[in-house]
Amino acid sequence: MKKLVILGSTGSIGTQTIDILDCIEAEVCAITVNTNIEMAEKQARQLHPQLVGVYDEEKAAELRIKLADTDIRVVSGMDGLIAAATLPQADIVVTAVVGMVGLLPTLAAIDAGKDIALANKETLVCAGQIVMRRAREKGVAILPVDSEHSAIFQCLQGRADNAIRRILLTASGGPFFGKTREEMRKMKKEQALKHPNWSMGAKITIDSATMMNKGLELIEAMWLYDVEPEAIDIVVHRESIVHSAVEYDDGSVIAQLGNPDMRLPIQYALTYPKRVPCKVPALDLPTLSRLTFFAPDTDAFPALNLARRAAKARGNLGAVLNGANEAAVDLFLKDKIAFTEIAELVGKAVEGVNYISEITVNDVLESDRVARRMVLDCVK
Ligand code: MG
Repeated sequence: MKKLVILGSTGSIGTQTIDILDCIEAEVCAITVNTNIEMAEKQARQLHPQLVGVYDEEKAAELRIKLADTDIRVVSGMDGLIAAATLPQADIVVTAVVGMVGLLPTLAAIDAGKDIALANKETLVCAGQIVMRRAREKGVAILPVDSEHSAIFQCLQGRADNAIRRILLTASGGPFFGKTREEMRKMKKEQALKHPNWSMGAKITIDSATMMNKGLELIEAMWLYDVEPEAIDIVVHRESIVHSAVEYDDGSVIAQLGNPDMRLPIQYALTYPKRVPCKVPALDLPTLSRLTFFAPDTDAFPALNLARRAAKARGNLGAVLNGANEAAVDLFLKDKIAFTEIAELVGKAVEGVNYISEITVNDVLESDRVARRMVLDCVK
């Protein structure tokens, strides 16, 4: 029986992880939430974890009262998240929190020798060189949960020592595929939040509309698979059936296909290298009339080139790109800026920040803070 910790148990990935627990042999020994203690209480009573971490201190105190009739321990703040991530009996930590807040608990889990089922892409985008180095030193596995990275991981099984020539990272293109920048300028959050294929949290759905999500995934893939950004092609594939592909030196392309449902990549990360029956309906190829592929429109979606630039530069630019983007998406969701200003503000931060090539964890946190401030200062 595998023992799991779920960081971010009430979010989209967290709840889908809980949904597949009966398919895999696993039990949950800790969960963490940001503020949603109503759902945390339900999950705690259902899963009987040893520990529940609540990031918000006041909400933690409320949950402690709600769970007073149980022996479940409630901890709070970043220390609480780290306590959950390093729980002695845990084997694997599902990092399903949104944003930079995932970095310190993920590093703590690695230091404690836990394998990581990584759904928090910001961790690698901001601190890929630190995280991957530490994982190698500690001998822990970083198992991708992001559907594209799971696909690439699956395509790499059985590669032996063969080199890969390219990664073909597929993108749905989001709700604004085919639109010009001018048309996108007027788009409101209600339109940006309508993703054609995937049901996801708000932040990532906006990232999908700007295609920054694909840019962040490019950086994530670069670190996970140790490839140069030039060897990663982004391919728009509207149907979200081919979840990504790998091209080997002989020109053979191996792809992973499936219905767009996160429960499969979550499950594979938790059962790897085993495959077990999954709740996701199997793909029925004859019912798919056709699959289409396009080169991305980098003029309409400038986030792609910004991310490529940050990927090539490495250092602190990943953290700057991500921090500026989180701040700008937040402003857009609060109706403070236009849709196209998200990428413009991120561009200004990437241009204007001091570049640091060899980064420490403190540099990452500081670059994130500076980037957010730059975005807010531009809007004032
Ligand atoms: Mg993805």
